[in-house]
Amino acid sequence: MLNVDLHCHSNVSDGTLAPMEVAARAKANGVDIWALTDHDEVGGISEARTAAAALELSYVAGVEISITWASQTIHIVGLQIDETNPELVQGLIATRGGRERRAREMAEQLAIAGIPDAYEGALKHVGNPDLISRTHFARYLVEIGRCADTSEVFRNFLTEGNPGYVPHRWASLEQAVRWIRGAGGVAVVAHPGRYKLSDLAFDAFFSEFKQLGGAAIEVMTGSHTPDQYAYYAKVAANYGFLASRGSDFHSPAESRVDLGALPPLPDSVTPVWYNW
Ligand code: AMP
Ligand code: MN
Ligand code: MN
Ligand code: MN
Repeated sequence: MLNVDLHCHSNVSDGTLAPMEVAARAKANGVDIWALTDHDEVGGISEARTAAAALELSYVAGVEISITWASQTIHIVGLQIDETNPELVQGLIATRGGRERRAREMAEQLAIAGIPDAYEGALKHVGNPDLISRTHFARYLVEIGRCADTSEVFRNFLTEGNPGYVPHRWASLEQAVRWIRGAGGVAVVAHPGRYKLSDLAFDAFFSEFKQLGGAAIEVMTGSHTPDQYAYYAKVAANYGFLASRGSDFHSPAESRVDLGALPPLPDSVTPVWYNW
């Protein structure tokens, strides 16, 4: 059976390894088909593709787009994209555009909560100045000893109701799916088990995603519990979605699930890669 990992990050977004280092780790872990899916950014793709080719690792061009739907942040993964597609490139530039101002507001709030200079601190962890994320702030809070690890940060800071949370409007669902499909790609709902939506809202979301041409959902992801593997396999079958598998690996020191280390997809679903 193929070991497929279609969701992970490099230091071009909020991972800690360079794209070529992520490629090497995927290969070493026995991955057969690999996609790098940096947040709102395709800048790591050419390095990743070149590294994968040298390692004889099958490579899929990917991205993870941040969207806002019903006031919630949701992530849509695009796979098999043409990363040079002008509408996709412009859309991602616009999506990244608000991050700098948001980061400055996050720092202002953290300063009020007694943590000064967090913007400068987070920036030290940033690999790509266009992509400052909450993860970089989380690493700074760990660095200064305010929290033991990044999960503790997200339980106490940077999330709704906690210091350093700044609401943000990302792309729309319609835009993200259009950019991905326009670039020849397949749109996939990332880690559905992470969103706080009622059953009714989830049904509306999946129905709208399907109607817009969305093709798949992540069933096996580092964010899901074993119960959620089974639950989202059923969801995929119910809506006629293909199923994806991706660790969401960010860093050797932080990630619960390593590249290629998830269990296989259940037999009941059709893999998103079935016709690749
Ligand atoms: P941003 O795109 O700036 O809002 O940052 C989102 C990123 O923060 C996600 O992609 C994760 O890498 C990280 N993140 C968010 N929530 C958590 C959490 N509860 N635990 C660990 N990492 C998280
Ligand atoms: Mn991330
Ligand atoms: Mn995500
Ligand atoms: Mn991710």
